[in-house]
Amino acid sequence: MSAYVSAFDLFSIGIGPSSSHTVGPMRAAVDFARRLVHGDLLSRVERVTCSLYGSLGATGIGHGTPDAVVAGLRGQEPETVDPGAVREAWVRYPAGEPLLLAGARPVAFAKDDITFEPRTRLPGHPNAMTLRAFDEAGGIVTQETYYSVGGGFIRRDGEDRAVGAAEYPYRYDDAASLMRLCDETGLTIAELARANEESRASEAEVAAGLDAIWNAMSGCVEAGLHEGGLLPGGLRVRRRASVIREQLEAVENDGHRELPGEWLGAFALAVNEENASGGRVVTAPTNGAAGILPAVAMYWWRFLADSGLGRGNAVTPYGELVGSALLGFGGEPTEVPDGDEEAVADANRRRGIRRFLLTATALGSLFKANASISGAEGGCQAEVGSACAMAAGGLTAVMGGTTRQIENAAEIAMEHHLGLTCDPVGGLVQIPCIERNAIAASTAVTAARLALRGDGQHFVSLDMVVETMRQTGIDMSTKYKETSEGGLAVNVIEC
Ligand code: SF4
Repeated sequence: MSAYVSAFDLFSIGIGPSSSHTVGPMRAAVDFARRLVHGDLLSRVERVTCSLYGSLGATGIGHGTPDAVVAGLRGQEPETVDPGAVREAWVRYPAGEPLLLAGARPVAFAKDDITFEPRTRLPGHPNAMTLRAFDEAGGIVTQETYYSVGGGFIRRDGEDRAVGAAEYPYRYDDAASLMRLCDETGLTIAELARANEESRASEAEVAAGLDAIWNAMSGCVEAGLHEGGLLPGGLRVRRRASVIREQLEAVENDGHRELPGEWLGAFALAVNEENASGGRVVTAPTNGAAGILPAVAMYWWRFLADSGLGRGNAVTPYGELVGSALLGFGGEPTEVPDGDEEAVADANRRRGIRRFLLTATALGSLFKANASISGAEGGCQAEVGSACAMAAGGLTAVMGGTTRQIENAAEIAMEHHLGLTCDPVGGLVQIPCIERNAIAASTAVTAARLALRGDGQHFVSLDMVVETMRQTGIDMSTKYKETSEGGLAVNVIEC
């Protein structure tokens, strides 16, 4: 089984605030409802219940887990559901009102049918949940246990593979074998990932799918940059991205120079504020860390792309010649009107974003396969650290970096997140999560800069830091793994 995970699984368009605590449980509930339908069991069901264990039980309410379970049981999916239909779906559920199971069968349901058991930790994963369906006599029709293993991925108890896992032509287990594969085939990391994607879909479908991911990411940045007020959840955290946008625009409109580094932070805050309010977000590779990749990609799109890419072999701010670097993916001629420079630039930017996302996918797969992308399993190093490494590698790729420079950038980014704990205040994905994404976005840019200044040779390999992250996650106290029982979560007084 290769480490590779599809870009369309790693970057799924869903809802906030958490991929493991919102998106994953919703998918589990949808899967459960579907099994009832396909197993011809639905007509026997009169009542459903859900037990949330471990981290899902500890911080589930703050992360909207019971709302997501209710929506999933109704058959609503994170990709297509109106986020407003999920928000508070559970708290507003009056006792005794029927729930439309799988969108078809009304069954008895009350708020208390979802129970929280934070002290019960199942051996399969810290994020576990059991769904049960009962008949009229109270007998169990069926029950399933699921693990939400991070990034919105779920695994059903008794199955080795995550639901939806697949095989690909280019197989690699770790960063060393990925680089070997690149050397042997002459492919870049992005081209190799693209070939894997095109084993399941046409070239046009892959390109369109990646563009859709980017459209959702950039749409989320824009939405967050224009939304003010307080975030939900009771901490009274004020949204800052739109305020910063106004400040930066005022500076720029006064004729002062652009402030790319400050925009980078604002982009990240924008996404994570959208996530915290339960908006439409792309998991990258989790929701808590969803701001880093879009922020770095938007930073490249807005401030770096046109400085060299798509305009011949011009020199980038780093001095590299990268004009032809984007011809690898989407090397097909782009249909743009003759002489329409903006259309050509836009097409080249999109090619760059596809390369960015594919490179990040190939790297993110390594963290998922060989360590973790789940805060409940490995602490925040697994979420924000992985996202930072993916963004650093993606940026290095679009800046024309070599395979080894990309590996180096990802390694630098991950190395300096080792040991980072997960301690969300009030069980909400707000403090420290939102600011942490802005900091990690700038770390990703720094890591890419350092890697691009070198020749790819370095002391600590990416595989070493992935393994170190895995071991550190095992050693980390449960208090610091999305339980809100330690760190900031117990030292910050909630108002
Ligand atoms: S502290 Fe990190 S891992 Fe924990 S919820 Fe926040 S972003 Fe996710």
